[in-house]
Amino acid sequence: MAFLTPDRVRVERIGRHTITIKEKIIPDGARATKDIASHVKKGDLVKPNKKLNNGTGKPKGVTVHNTADITPAKGTNAAEQYARATYPNGNMGGVAVHFWVWKNEIWQQLREDERGWHAADGSRRRKDHRGGQTGGNVDTIAIECIGKDPESEDTIAKLVAYLCKKHGLDPAYDVYTHNYRMHGVDKIVQGARKNCPLYILPHWNKFLDKVKEYYNEKVEPETKPKTNTLYRVQTGAFKHKSNADALLNRLKKDGFDTYMVQADGLYKVQVGAYAIRENAEAMAKRLKDKGFSAYITTESGSPVAAESANPAPKSSEPTKSAPKKTWQYYISGSLVKELQREINKQFNKKIKVDGYFGNETISALPVVRPGAEGNLTKIIQKRLIELGYSVGKWGADGKFGNATYSAVVKFQRDRKLKVDGIVGQETWKELFKK
Ligand SMILES: [Zn+2]
Repeated sequence: MAFLTPDRVRVERIGRHTITIKEKIIPDGARATKDIASHVKKGDLVKPNKKLNNGTGKPKGVTVHNTADITPAKGTNAAEQYARATYPNGNMGGVAVHFWVWKNEIWQQLREDERGWHAADGSRRRKDHRGGQTGGNVDTIAIECIGKDPESEDTIAKLVAYLCKKHGLDPAYDVYTHNYRMHGVDKIVQGARKNCPLYILPHWNKFLDKVKEYYNEKVEPETKPKTNTLYRVQTGAFKHKSNADALLNRLKKDGFDTYMVQADGLYKVQVGAYAIRENAEAMAKRLKDKGFSAYITTESGSPVAAESANPAPKSSEPTKSAPKKTWQYYISGSLVKELQREINKQFNKKIKVDGYFGNETISALPVVRPGAEGNLTKIIQKRLIELGYSVGKWGADGKFGNATYSAVVKFQRDRKLKVDGIVGQETWKELFKK
């Protein structure tokens, strides 16, 4: 039996999390090739082929179900297997739901604006949480949670939160249990022929709290580059280079790794640049303990070769003591130029398009997330491919889909970065390292 292959894979964001939805929508007008259920005989439509909510297509809620766990066949998962059993196999007794969920697998079989068959309430409506009238089949999106794995429940909480956001629903009112359709309550009904969602019902409110948590989760600003402030420890600034040279040589004699920069007509002698202010302060203290003056500045300047007491041979090579410039740690060339051009275009910046991945470029790097489309994603994909990570069969197509997300996650894991599938500054830097 051939497994289903999704027609489309969507990576959707909810708060700081993402979910991956594999779409295999039952074709409109598909008909049963055998008797499937009392309401779906051979030749009948296998899904209602009608829009939700009186034909408007606007869902009024989400209905959550549980169904029995299964051991999936080798090479697939339970969500795909249930979807396949529904259509094309016709082995689910005429059930048609929007989402099958198992662990982190989500398979979608109905569009979010169309009706399903899942609530056993036909076309009926009953009083809803808002005091109006809502029908399970005719007004709500159906989610089937397969089994009772906490991971599946967590995925459903994210999915419900995502659907609420997307369709303007409120997790406090618009999320229903199947039991609500049958018994009018969101809890286990003793002695009832059926309770659903069986595993979630006993802690339904806790589940709803989780949905609300995801629903309310704040998203970090999407495109603002992180500030890239460096705290520099400066020991002196001189009008005459010879004075700066003298200080620099004294520092070196005392074992400090020091360098000179030029800015505002002054020669500045600095000892280290730190991302964390405390580290800069510690260095300043060490200098003061040795009798040097020291203070912290966030300003730099252009590097100046220092005149050492024992002059190094004249050469265009950087002297041994000269600090490596940022761009020397990273690849340079046409891809970096492409990146610089794109940042300038998208964020209205004026960084120099010189092909060097330096501080100016680094501080302008945007955050690129799953679901993004465009040239920045394409650049990320090109780099991933160069580094041996597959981004799927379409290659660098500029679409941050499932395969690219997986590649980023793998890359982050390999490079011991925070694993979140999002390309922020640290991931960008790692991608462009030599
Ligand atoms: Zn149910």
